[in-house]
Amino acid sequence: MSQPKPRNGTKPVNLLLTVIISGALVLSAVAAPSMAADATPSPTATPSVSPTPSVSPTPSVTDVPVTPPGEPMPPVLCGVCFNPGAYSLTKANSLWVVANKQRPLNPITYKPTIGYFKGVQVAKVTATALSQMAAGMLKAKAGTLLLNSGFRSFDTQTVVHDRQVARLGLKAGEALAARPGYSEHQTGLAADVSAAGQGCTIQVCFANTKAGKWLAANAWQYGFILRYPKDQTATTGYQFEPWHFRYVGVDLATEMKSKNITVLEKFWKLPAAPAYSY
Ligand SMILES: [Zn+2]
Repeated sequence: MSQPKPRNGTKPVNLLLTVIISGALVLSAVAAPSMAADATPSPTATPSVSPTPSVSPTPSVTDVPVTPPGEPMPPVLCGVCFNPGAYSLTKANSLWVVANKQRPLNPITYKPTIGYFKGVQVAKVTATALSQMAAGMLKAKAGTLLLNSGFRSFDTQTVVHDRQVARLGLKAGEALAARPGYSEHQTGLAADVSAAGQGCTIQVCFANTKAGKWLAANAWQYGFILRYPKDQTATTGYQFEPWHFRYVGVDLATEMKSKNITVLEKFWKLPAAPAYSY
């Protein structure tokens, strides 16, 4: 406060630069250049350069507890780590069950605890996740999420399967509709979705709609994967279905996303399931 004016004039500049250059050493950095300025007659920019060494990342690293060499690492914070053994891949009531043409549900007539999304039956966990995804989609102005088909019982799947086979023949029909007991829809974890007013409902062109694009990019954040991606028919046994999302929970969806693996069979190193065994 009692310093001569020219020095006062240089101080804010020094202070500003120091703050920009280093947050961690603000106090020492401010002290250093002002002392240098006191000793330097001309208010050149040189003193403000003196905090340069503080650009080194060392100070911020000292904020983090460092394990000394030879010491055991601290336990990993498991809110962020993936546990591949968390759920069964084979039990029908498991969040991670893999059902495909080689892996019928066990038990084959399994029925989940039912919940509802906009009046349509799905597993209760799926309903909750769909509500959250619908809110996210609305917020992103990508549309209003609709659920066209969720839980299908063994008996309903029988009807759906037989209808598609009658319409398209065995091969093409079964590329669209699973045999009863082999459908993810029976777990209640699958959701055939669309968006209000965007068309292409249960059609491949849904992939090109605003909602289809948003879902493909963001569903993982809500625990869903696009279960039958493009060009994966040889593995999944199903054609590209940009409307069919499978709830697997945020942990697995995030892990798959981070590893850039889109298909459950590949992620778990399970055999491809292009067709039924009989
Ligand atoms: Zn489906």
